[in-house]
Order: sequence, then structure tokens, then C-alpha cells
Amino acid sequence: MRIVIGGGITGLTVASQLEDTVVLEQQSSVGGLYSIEEVGGLTLTIIPPVVSSIKRLAEILPDLKLEEWRPIIKKTKEEHLKMKVCPFCDELPTWLDVKEGYLVHNLPEALLELGSKVKIVRGYPLRVREGKLFTNRGILEFSEIINTGSREELNRLIGVEEDLKKIGCLLAVIVSRGGINKWDVLLHGSAGISFSHVFRREIDEKHDVYHVYAFTRGGKHLDADRILGDLKRASVLTKEDVVTMRVRYIRECILAGEKEKNRPNFLRECGRLGLWDNLSLEEAVESALRC
Ligand SMILES: Cc1cc2nc3c(=O)[nH]c(=O)nc-3n(C[C@H](O)[C@H](O)[C@H](O)COP(=O)(O)OP(=O)(O)OC[C@H]3O[C@@H](n4cnc5c(N)ncnc54)[C@H](O)[C@@H]3O)c2cc1C
Repeated sequence: MRIVIGGGITGLTVASQLEDTVVLEQQSSVGGLYSIEEVGGLTLTIIPPVVSSIKRLAEILPDLKLEEWRPIIKKTKEEHLKMKVCPFCDELPTWLDVKEGYLVHNLPEALLELGSKVKIVRGYPLRVREGKLFTNRGILEFSEIINTGSREELNRLIGVEEDLKKIGCLLAVIVSRGGINKWDVLLHGSAGISFSHVFRREIDEKHDVYHVYAFTRGGKHLDADRILGDLKRASVLTKEDVVTMRVRYIRECILAGEKEKNRPNFLRECGRLGLWDNLSLEEAVESALRC
């Protein structure tokens, strides 16, 4: 049996293409970064389902509801963005380089549908020994492990050292009253403001959804109150405009560092966390199809 670690889009795509696989996913739902969040009765994703191209995505998810997206972008101190977001990165992830593309209205639902076609075990690996993966849910025998989950975590289990670096992020999804701002994307390079990227879209006549990204290294203190305070200081939203919000901390948000070429031969790796590379959604699917 092949074990696929991680039930994000990469893991689900790999598992749906191969016989005799089981997906090991640590979260209660599948979809990874695009899993569904319940926010005030609405089902949203914590990051906006925006893609610059849909060639590969449409191959595995043919029933996507797409809308062309030509964002109005407002910039404040854009020249400082890279230093603020990831000073040690050679360049920022392409998904932070906002361009025209598509909004995918039913991405989490489409991923749930894909997830329903593969076998999923809710759990995470603890140890790897002689063809056996010890997990918190029991022992799984494997012929191969396909890792699309945290490479750093897996390295610890198999006793491999690599010089991996990462930046975490606090992501907020906010439902607000509508019509407050006219831009679709705000890029904010000022170091005094916790967030750097804000995406806005209308969800109905009266409400907008804002996706706010605040990147952070180490223990820098960030929480929902700090984000709300900074949204007010940057004249984006006030607390009174907010109908409801949800925040999620992602430890492995921007990935960098040095990777070793030699890896154990029972292991294949793909997806953003497995390859430890800041892949876009399209690139993640591409990596899954080639995995
Ligand atoms: C903040 C942010 C914004 C982004 N915005 C865009 C965008 O606008 N457009 C775009 O094209 N791309 C964007 N991307 C990139 C895109 O989200 C990813 O390429 C895509 O989600 C990768 O899917 P994945 O399955 O490889 O990884 P993930 O979606 O991260 O899924 C990995 C899964 O593995 C699970 N997992 C991890 N470790 C373990 C373990 N040890 N055991 C069990 N399970 C484990 C996790 O719980 C998760 O479900 C963004 C990424 C980030 C971080």
C-alpha cells in the first residue's frame, strides 16, 4: 500500500490518480489551505481562491465555477514589501505577485468531492521503521510513502537534517458591511502595520469579504485585535464595520532554505510542503500529476 501524507489538493490529486493508496491527514477536514471555514453561517476559505491560470486545476476538477478577476490594486510603500514579508527569501512567492486571473467560487466543495473518492485516515505519523508507519491512529504497512505534508516534520521522523527556513502567517477572513472600499487588493509595505496583503471581494449586495495576511517570524505577537487595530489605522475597516471574523495561524507559510538531494528511496515528495517550495495552486497540481 502507498501512504500519502497530507490531504490538501496535492495529496488528494496524487491519491486519486494511483491504486491502493491511503491518505493520512492530520486535520478534521481535507483541502489543506483551501479547507472550508464556517464564518458567520458562510462557508469560506481562509485564503481567497484566486488563481492566475486554471489549466491543470481544470484537469482534475472539471466542474469549477470560475469568474474572471481583474483586480484594482492599491499600493502603500510597496518597495518595502519584500523586506517586511520575507527578508531572507530570494524572491516572494508568485502567489503574492497579484495579477489578473480567476476567482474559483466552489474550490473547497470541489476538493471535498475529490476527497470523497479516496480513502482517508485522520491522523499523523509518529515513526517510520522497516516498511511500517507508526501513526497516532495505529500502524500502517507501506510499499511507498508519498509526502505532501510537512517536510520538516518528516525529516525529524526519518532522522534527516536539512537547513529549512520558514515564515509563519496569521490569516484573517473578515465579513464586513459592503461598499467601504473600492480596491480589490491592498499591498501595505509599512513596517508599523502588521498585515501586508488584503484581498477584498463582494459576496452579496450588503457584504464584502476581506482576506488579510500578516506574516511573522518567530514569536512576534499577533492576534485578531492587533489586526483589527491596524486595519483601522490603515483606514481599511473599523471594528463597527466587521460582521464576523475568523483567524488561523499557519506555521509553514513561506518556505525557504537549503534542501538535500539524497532522500530515502521509499519516499516520493510533492506539493508545497513536500517539495518545500512556494508553489501556486496550479504548480501544486502539476507537481501532484508528476509525483
Ligand atoms: C497564505 C497563502 C496564500 C496563498 N495564495 C495563493 C493564491 O492566491 N493562488 C495560488 O495559486 N496559490 C496560493 N497559495 C499556494 C497554494 O495555497 C498552495 O500551492 C496549495 O494549497 C498547495 O496544496 P498542498 O496540498 O500542496 O498543501 P496544503 O494545502 O498546505 O496541504 C497540506 C496538507 O497536509 C497536511 N499535513 C501536513 N503535515 C502533515 C502531517 N505530518 N501529517 C498529516 N497531515 C499533514 C495539512 O494538514 C494539509 O491538509 C497560497 C499559499 C499561502 C500559504
